[in-house]
Amino acid sequence: MEKLKESGQYRTFVEIERLAGRFPQALHHGSQGVREVTVWCSNDHLGMGQHPDVLAAMRRTLDTSGAAAGGSRNISGTTPHHVALEREVADLHGKESGLTFITGYAANDAALYVLGKTLPDCVFFSDRLNHASMISAMRASGAERHVFDHNDPADLNRRLNEVRPGRPKVVAFESVYSMDGDVAPMAELCAVAQRHDAFVYVDEAHTVGMYGPEGAGLAAQLGVGDEVTLLMGTFAKGYGTAGGYVAGPGPVVDAIRSLAPAFIFTLSMPPAVAAGALTSVRHLRRSDIERAGLHERARLLKTLLRDARIPLVSDQSHIVPVLVGDPERCRELARTLLERHRMYAQPINFPSVPRGTERLRINPSPVHQPLEVHRFADALRRCWDELDLPRTAPARVRA
Ligand code: PMP
Repeated sequence: MEKLKESGQYRTFVEIERLAGRFPQALHHGSQGVREVTVWCSNDHLGMGQHPDVLAAMRRTLDTSGAAAGGSRNISGTTPHHVALEREVADLHGKESGLTFITGYAANDAALYVLGKTLPDCVFFSDRLNHASMISAMRASGAERHVFDHNDPADLNRRLNEVRPGRPKVVAFESVYSMDGDVAPMAELCAVAQRHDAFVYVDEAHTVGMYGPEGAGLAAQLGVGDEVTLLMGTFAKGYGTAGGYVAGPGPVVDAIRSLAPAFIFTLSMPPAVAAGALTSVRHLRRSDIERAGLHERARLLKTLLRDARIPLVSDQSHIVPVLVGDPERCRELARTLLERHRMYAQPINFPSVPRGTERLRINPSPVHQPLEVHRFADALRRCWDELDLPRTAPARVRA
């Protein structure tokens, strides 16, 4: 424990209670008592976690079906809500089958483990910044794994060239990266994979609901949905509820259903959660307002921070990572924002991100009103001055 504390890996948590119906407002239970704060780091990117239709579906299902399914999917835990949700995600992504899991973590764990374990002589090609759930599943499967440079189709191509043709190959990457907020060159990565006859596995946790027609994600937005063999998504971010899924070819999904320990030996999604997730997916297939609001607020925040010369790790998506570059100052910045300005943004330090790139990851959403975005940018600018944090170089004015 001492070593853990010295290395900065010992974790403490901020106690936060969301105010449903008033999110992004929440109650912070801290040393100053219980105080209302604005949350700036929630993954409920579209505010669907408090959408009246989602809450009504969950309440209705709680009343009809109880608190949980009472078992794994195999033993009394498959309800019509699960079946309907699986049909819905398959249809959303234009795939043959869908499968839901208790979390998105479990979806990656189950799917990649089964691919690595069952495709004979399988070899993975994994983006350097892939999520922990993907890395751990590929490792656990025991299959050979090559790590390609982040978002680099040329490096992927080089590494694919080094492996004998005819071996089953799985290229695994994300569409938007959670810590850096940068976007994968999906069309290029898919084209390289296709040239080598490789299976494409994409984690769209940070894009489903938020990007593409009907919220079908980034592959759909870029018109490469058919090039993705197996797509993974979560209901815990854009859809504002909980659980994860994969969508893909029937036999592949069937193999995961029959063989994945992370699917078989655990509880099924509580039916009320499945019903809430289904309502959220259906709503976001019909409605563009939430998506438009998300991207408009993110644009506003990025413009205000750029004008204030506050450095960002990247500015490519709805995730706005503010680069601090020092763990203690990052904590201090978050503490000042919370205590003085009642704005909660979690500091992100090593090992979640490399040392020297410590940051606040800001998640604006359509339920953060423009005035709140202005207030946040203003508070951040003042804290930045107070802590004397480095600014980006001033933009050159052309004559
Ligand atoms: N994949 C990525 C890229 C993620 O960021 C996350 C969550 N942080 C997950 C998978 C896991 O999703 P869930 O929270 O539903 O377990």
